[in-house]
Amino acid sequence: MTEAVARNFILESRLRIALERNEFVLHYQPKVDLQTRSIVGAEALIRWDSPGTGLVSPMEFIPLMEETGLILEAGAWALRQAARDHREWVRRGLAAPRVAVNVSAIQSRQRDFVDAVTDAVGRGAASSPIDLELTESVLMKDIEGNIAKLNALRALGMKVAIDDFGTGHSSLAYLARLPVDALKIDRSFVITMLDDPGAMSLVQTIITLAKSLRLTTIAEGVETEEQAKMLRLLRCDQMQGYLISKPLPMEAMAGLLAVR
Ligand code: C2E
Ligand code: MG
Ligand code: MG
Repeated sequence: MTEAVARNFILESRLRIALERNEFVLHYQPKVDLQTRSIVGAEALIRWDSPGTGLVSPMEFIPLMEETGLILEAGAWALRQAARDHREWVRRGLAAPRVAVNVSAIQSRQRDFVDAVTDAVGRGAASSPIDLELTESVLMKDIEGNIAKLNALRALGMKVAIDDFGTGHSSLAYLARLPVDALKIDRSFVITMLDDPGAMSLVQTIITLAKSLRLTTIAEGVETEEQAKMLRLLRCDQMQGYLISKPLPMEAMAGLLAVR
């Protein structure tokens, strides 16, 4: 117990220093159209480039950042950086796709969430090339508050996706009212889909539900051609996963956009 507390305390102070020293980087994972395989978007995923340790996965530090509130600063940084990287791709004449940034519950619960996002991505006249991913449980918690916030963000041209869909506790009545654009089918269903008829019918049901609500479907964590083929048959719209590409550093993503 005390050991865990001490470990967290050390990690927290290291994360504060890392934020000051700008040690975080975004990697980008392409989202492709399931029919054409052309890149239709990218997801920004944070990593900590810790001197001496190397790249640290967000699973190792996001939970503590959420506990300590550091996620507010890190989240704003991620939005700013994604917008900067997107501008740089455009400046180089690349066909830069829209970039989706993950947003944590702590961020979206802030009263000034809409302003914080707008400040971070810049208040340009043109519509924003940045999209947001929020998890199901976050969106279902404060429905009325979220509807207002999402409407304000979508008015700026941002698209909103529900991340890890199928793992939370969505109320169908609420889902129909939420102003969102896409559902991301959780990786756990994609992995088991071909062996587990239960997972398969769940994926099928999510896609049908999304279609009836006019939402785009994006399958997460697609690793094999068999999975991609099945998802295409089920009329899923987009996929991302190691089959197409792992998350890539900004420059490598630029390289991928250049060969398009
Ligand atoms: P997520 O948003 O659901 O992101 C998908 C995760 O699945 C990423 O892990 C990605 O690298 C991984 N992935 C993608 N395709 C495959 C595949 O084919 N196979 C396997 N095994 N994994 C795949 P990552 O980058 O470690 O991120 C984990 C989670 O951390 C994310 O889940 C997201 O919830 C959170 N996260 C990442 N960046 C941020 C951020 O900037 N802000 C916040 N609040 N959370 C973030
Ligand atoms: Mg995500
Ligand atoms: Mg996900």
